[in-house]
Amino acid sequence: MSDRKKLFIKTYGCQMNVYDSERMAETLGGSGYDTTEDAASADMILLNTCHIREKAAEKIYSELGRLKVHKDANPNLKIAVAGCVAQAEGEEIVRRQPAVDLVVGPQSYHRLPEMEEKIREGKRALDTDFPEEDKFEHMPKRPKAARGPTAFLTVQEGCDKFCAFCVVPYTRGAEVSRPVDRILTEARDLVERGVREITLLGQNVNAYHGQGPNGDMTLDQLIWALNDVDGLERIRFTTSHPNDMTDALIAAHGECEKLMPYLHLPVQSGSDKILKRMNRNHTAESYLKVIERIRAARPDILLSGDFIVGFPEETEADFEATMELVRQVRYGQAYSFKYSSRPGTPAAERPLVDQAEADDRLQRLQGLLSSQQYEIQDEMVGKEVSVLFEREGRLEGQMVGKSEYLHAVHVTAPNAKRGDIARVKITNTERNSLGGTLLT
Ligand code: SAM
Ligand code: SF4
Repeated sequence: MSDRKKLFIKTYGCQMNVYDSERMAETLGGSGYDTTEDAASADMILLNTCHIREKAAEKIYSELGRLKVHKDANPNLKIAVAGCVAQAEGEEIVRRQPAVDLVVGPQSYHRLPEMEEKIREGKRALDTDFPEEDKFEHMPKRPKAARGPTAFLTVQEGCDKFCAFCVVPYTRGAEVSRPVDRILTEARDLVERGVREITLLGQNVNAYHGQGPNGDMTLDQLIWALNDVDGLERIRFTTSHPNDMTDALIAAHGECEKLMPYLHLPVQSGSDKILKRMNRNHTAESYLKVIERIRAARPDILLSGDFIVGFPEETEADFEATMELVRQVRYGQAYSFKYSSRPGTPAAERPLVDQAEADDRLQRLQGLLSSQQYEIQDEMVGKEVSVLFEREGRLEGQMVGKSEYLHAVHVTAPNAKRGDIARVKITNTERNSLGGTLLT
């Protein structure tokens, strides 16, 4: 009988957590764990958490309350908390929830094997340091098993921008970029295992400046190096700051064949007063100029963004400036949030705006953003796109994949398989996807 144990990971928050969860699963693989989709049969349940908004952090405490019941029924179950809540509230978690065995911050995942040994001996383990060594360096190489056609690859972590509302600089620490050779090795390895599209990840990915063979390389240079990887067909990156959209990166959008015409470029607000109070270091106009340059380089690019409404001191006029900026840009996709006060950030000191007003603004903004999304989806009808098939659809012979613009597309393609890229003519739109027919 195998003495391998079962690990269930629940991932909250951003794509960087998705990537980290994969790497933690690989690391714990060396300590005798295989992943399972079934929490009830797990020997260890690991929550990879998000601290970006209050609701996200609160969820973790209620989930831990539920897990305590599991553990009462099965005292051998180990409960672990990773991610940004672990980093920000590690000691508080240990104090408040005795069922938790292990708490690990995002910079210490390479220490999981030692920590796992400790909890096996019945002790509790807490590590929320920002160690000098690079965690990815000390994590096991990715195993050679085949995988799906798309993958995330973290190239940069942390942030030095200190927007007044944001916990990232405190939970993920200062900006660090991984060296180019490690990224290329990991990318080639992913391609060997079936990956055709890689999304480069970083909290501030376009500030990337990793060590290359002849000094530091910037994100555009890294993208060009990846463009030469045989078998890799598509490159994306997220998330970017408007101030780090350099001329060379913008030019790459026009010239680099494998770089997809999609850009997530958060602006947060369209009011210069609020942008200043947010410490964003850009104005609405400078953001619009960046957008203009990107569209000049790649006219068909699909733009996405992040918005916060109800930031302290936001008036109706400030909110209207955000609506106006959205009307000018026309986003194909977007994320919008009501401001959430985060302890320890500068904005947390300031009084909240009326919450009913903030809810109303969020609804109005989301209404506008959705109408733009649907208009842009409608405009795709009749156009030809390339679709990378990711999985089988629900209907007989149907495949589902993403276009270069990151739209989900359903196509009848009985002879296609995952990883194929096909030319498709868009015929119809659904709420959050498109339908099309194969072109031969
Ligand atoms: N680095 C990216 C940038 O510069 O915009 C974003 C990183 S953050 C993980 C993702 C998004 O969460 C932000 O763009 C912002 O819109 C939102 N966010 C961050 N802190 C927030 C807060 N305190 N309240 C509401 N939304 C917040
Ligand atoms: Fe947070 Fe992004 Fe601002 Fe950095 S740039 S502080 S990650 S919102």
